[in-house]
Amino acid sequence: MDRVYNFSAGPSMLPLAVLEKAQTELTNYKGSGMSVMEISHRSGLFTDIITEAENLLRELMQIPDNYKVLFVQGGASQQFAAIPLNLHKNGKADYVNTGSWSKKAIKEAKKYLEVNEIASSADQNFTYIPAITPDMIDPEADYVHITTNNTIEGTAFRDIPDTGSVPLVADMSSNILSEEIEVSKFGLIYAGAQKNIGPAGLTVVIIRDDLIGHASRACPTMLDYQTHSESGSLYNTPSTYAIYIAKLVFEWLKELGGIKQLQTRNEKKAATLYDYIAQSDFYDSPVEETSRSIMNIPFVIPNHDLDAEFVKEAKEAGLETLKGHRSVGGMRASIYNAMPLDGVEALVSFMDRFAQKHS
Ligand SMILES: *Cc1c(COP(=O)(O)O)cnc(C)c1O
Repeated sequence: MDRVYNFSAGPSMLPLAVLEKAQTELTNYKGSGMSVMEISHRSGLFTDIITEAENLLRELMQIPDNYKVLFVQGGASQQFAAIPLNLHKNGKADYVNTGSWSKKAIKEAKKYLEVNEIASSADQNFTYIPAITPDMIDPEADYVHITTNNTIEGTAFRDIPDTGSVPLVADMSSNILSEEIEVSKFGLIYAGAQKNIGPAGLTVVIIRDDLIGHASRACPTMLDYQTHSESGSLYNTPSTYAIYIAKLVFEWLKELGGIKQLQTRNEKKAATLYDYIAQSDFYDSPVEETSRSIMNIPFVIPNHDLDAEFVKEAKEAGLETLKGHRSVGGMRASIYNAMPLDGVEALVSFMDRFAQKHS
């Protein structure tokens, strides 16, 4: 077996069972004599795939009936523009700035409406999640935007803010499906697929149906949620193979027992790594304890000269892509749903060997 444990932040590890299933179906899908990559997006075979993918996602996340699920393209980054273009009513929105991805969302939204940055953790280099209280929210705002999990900084909202009647919009690219959430707390949830759902090229949007159909006149057809809602995500050719793999991932999640089970598993994985770091005098977590992500875990060594050596030796030990993001430095382990506990344990035992060797 020459697979490695891949700690990449995205595109990231996929479950081996999913890749193997795709492999058996690669050249001849269900006796059609064609690959899923080769079949029409309007064929019965593909209709079944996209319908099943949506139904599984609805079941896993317990998405209420008054929400639409859209499979679109352009990444989470395209949603940074699509959101203000679609949810534009009073021309202003509240944003919480918790790091690199929030900053990009804010920068893009400013092209289309007035952005009010209601809270930020920039003062502490984004190592914590600021508290959001109802009095901070403008009742006239078109929406409030948060990044629930900050992939680069390793922070996550442990409590979802109460935004009252103002729709809450969340970038969940790096923590969708990792823990139970109550979809009804949100007006809109979006996520690029390449972290916890499947391959790059697919973006999932979950939107309350009363928020559809109000796009501004300048909104391109392809960014208008109504376009995708009315056509069942088949207005144009969707990312067919990515949707197929996402469906296999959803089946895998369901077989494992669903999101509640996954959450327990993910919390155990994260605790394994955080507990090791906490008792170590060699490694440190730069993130405030109450704001820690269970998906992306940055850690640092006091002597930064050892960072490159750590990454190199880890790679040799079959532990791939542990270099931290350039804005944070140090190391980062992304441990999405597909990372087994064994992978985290292998990382911890490598860290221990490395610490003994270098301290
Ligand atoms: C990766 C990521 C993005 C960017 O996603 P793309 O699909 O590459 O546009 C945005 N937000 C968060 C939180 C991410 O982790």
